[in-house]
Amino acid sequence: MKQTNDVMIGLEVHAQLKTMTKLFCSCPTTAAEPNTAVCPTCLGHPGSKPIVNKKALEFGVKLALALGCQLSRSIYFSRKTYFYPDMAKNFQITQYEIPLGAEGHITLDSGKIIQIKRLHLEEDPAGLIHEANSVLIDYNRSGIPLCEIVTEPDLHSPDEARELMNKLMNILLYLEIFEQDSVIKADVNVSVKAKNFTRVEIKNITGFKEIERAINYEVIRQQQETVVRETRGWEPGKGITFSMRTKETEEDYGYIIEPDLPMFTFEQSFIDGIKKQIPELPQQRAQRYVSKYKIDVTDAKIIASDLAVAQLFDTVVEKVNPVLASKWFRRELLRVLNLKNKQLRETQMTADVLVELFSLLEQKQITDRIGQQIIERLVDEIFSPKEFVVQQSLGRVADESLSAVCDKVIAENPQAVADYKNGVEKALKFLIGKAMALTKGQADPVLINKLLEEKLQKV
Ligand SMILES: [Zn+2]
Repeated sequence: MKQTNDVMIGLEVHAQLKTMTKLFCSCPTTAAEPNTAVCPTCLGHPGSKPIVNKKALEFGVKLALALGCQLSRSIYFSRKTYFYPDMAKNFQITQYEIPLGAEGHITLDSGKIIQIKRLHLEEDPAGLIHEANSVLIDYNRSGIPLCEIVTEPDLHSPDEARELMNKLMNILLYLEIFEQDSVIKADVNVSVKAKNFTRVEIKNITGFKEIERAINYEVIRQQQETVVRETRGWEPGKGITFSMRTKETEEDYGYIIEPDLPMFTFEQSFIDGIKKQIPELPQQRAQRYVSKYKIDVTDAKIIASDLAVAQLFDTVVEKVNPVLASKWFRRELLRVLNLKNKQLRETQMTADVLVELFSLLEQKQITDRIGQQIIERLVDEIFSPKEFVVQQSLGRVADESLSAVCDKVIAENPQAVADYKNGVEKALKFLIGKAMALTKGQADPVLINKLLEEKLQKV
């Protein structure tokens, strides 16, 4: 969808923090059997008392600092009252009046700054499992630590929303406070100029792809239908949003300060300690690539924007030319992954096979065309590129045999030859392509080019 300021999108992203135990009790965060990781606190039994997980606080502070937020020196928790089976104590412990962090930002590739309005910690409610005639409740999720990151409605297209989510996810992974496979949920607010920016919130969408689909759908719906201020749900099976209720305001939740938890004041030494733990983030990593390896700025940004890709790149460039490696990472490896709709971690790719492949290219033992074919196969299955080239006789051809190939191409394509003679530049490219196809991509394209030009002078 084209970017336009006629659309305003804001995100409230809920990311699960990678702690061993829950936010307010010592139940484990990883349990397979439903309702096995539970205790009086996360089941909301009367008289049970919450105790804050220090690790979750540290992770929240870490993220707030990495996003450039103003950090609140003192924080407290509040009760958000609501009645629903997913929260047995009828309130969720969250932060309302003073968030852990505020006024941060994430910069998009275009240079556009998306403001982070607030960042706070809260507990996850239980999971509801909908069956044919009943709903089952799994309280294992109840009390799992979440960090909620709220953006200003600075996003103007579903594409920008996706880029922001990818950037945020990448920062969470760099900070090692988020498990790659854990669920990301979001509430999204969407409004369009044509309807006076009447704000509609879509609640509880799970997963990046669904979030993007829901935004896409909602933008189009709002442009076509009457829009009222309301809360909607997302139905992934049908690919539609549906009305849930007219929008409640935050006041309706009757927030009160959580009386069972103290106010927390962060010592400067605590904050300094966490600052020291913040690793090199994607932007800094990209800058390092440019200054250390002299690679293209865009290549550097794209490689650094995926931690797994960046880590693989770091290992590979210890052994091969970084400029060559960066080009192949961005233009080929990432292209093929994208084409096959795969993440790097879903493949068996290792630094060793890429070093082998890039060395073959560096030493001109194979052509770029063959290199591309090999990388396409490596994404599906792992093998030794060196052995593969020998077995399949795929080595680069740059000998007198190419002369005959060029003669054949000229003889078989009289129209292209005539076009070339009439000054049509593209005709030569066409003929080179034919010669490359005849040699199954193994011919040295530079030599083919030279031979064809020589021979065409004499035709
Ligand atoms: Zn518990």
